[in-house]
Amino acid sequence: MLPLVVASGWLLLSPPASALNVQRLESAEIDTLNAILQTLEPFITKKKEDGTAILLGWEALYEPLTPPQQAFLDEFRALHAETLGATSRYFGESAGPLDLVPVGPQSTLTDGVPTPLDPQYLPDKVLDVYQRMMAAMQADLGKRLLVESGYRSPAYQLYLFLYYLPKHDYSIRETNRFVALPGHSEHGYPPRQAIDFINEAGISGENHPEAFEALSEYQWLQQHAEGFGFVLSYPRDNPSHTAFEPWHWHYEPR
Ligand SMILES: [Zn+2]
Repeated sequence: MLPLVVASGWLLLSPPASALNVQRLESAEIDTLNAILQTLEPFITKKKEDGTAILLGWEALYEPLTPPQQAFLDEFRALHAETLGATSRYFGESAGPLDLVPVGPQSTLTDGVPTPLDPQYLPDKVLDVYQRMMAAMQADLGKRLLVESGYRSPAYQLYLFLYYLPKHDYSIRETNRFVALPGHSEHGYPPRQAIDFINEAGISGENHPEAFEALSEYQWLQQHAEGFGFVLSYPRDNPSHTAFEPWHWHYEPR
């Protein structure tokens, strides 16, 4: 892949065309995918526990795989979201070090049982604004939202995409409505950093997508988040072909 433009530390790549069947993977492709997931799952689980999964680099993701499996991942990196009927923006990948800081230990509490969340990272500035916004929510509602997912490296984003493919009947097009391809995710682009919120009782897009919209915390965000520079990325019936995600907000100061 050839770098086309290098601007302020961000590298925009022009991927070659991919040969993957984007409507539904062929059976040989499904076999390859399942073998890859089987190899990566214990490796990712371990990295999730020590908090490094979301910072995963390409080399670490490729390392446990065979050369044909690595070539299969290259096919996904060569996919253009535009060819999938989506209009999601291409942000590119970071070419330099990221200004990320840990969010700190977080736990949800369901029926009195605390469940620790996986470690999360945000750009320094975004963490600061998030904390100020939550202090305001706490003052108004006596509740706050936690960070279920903050920064995610492009390599981890690809892993997530592969992980969710079987849940969408091996359709790349359909999966892309719910999980962005690497380079297309606001989670991997600190200048427009996204946060997936989860409430203190554990209601999130991952666990209870239909319930998140009804939360008073979500209504509070709709009224106040903009004042802090947070914007709902995917409203209902948005034109980008991405599903409605009331839990996914990105930081875009004006
Ligand atoms: Zn998200």
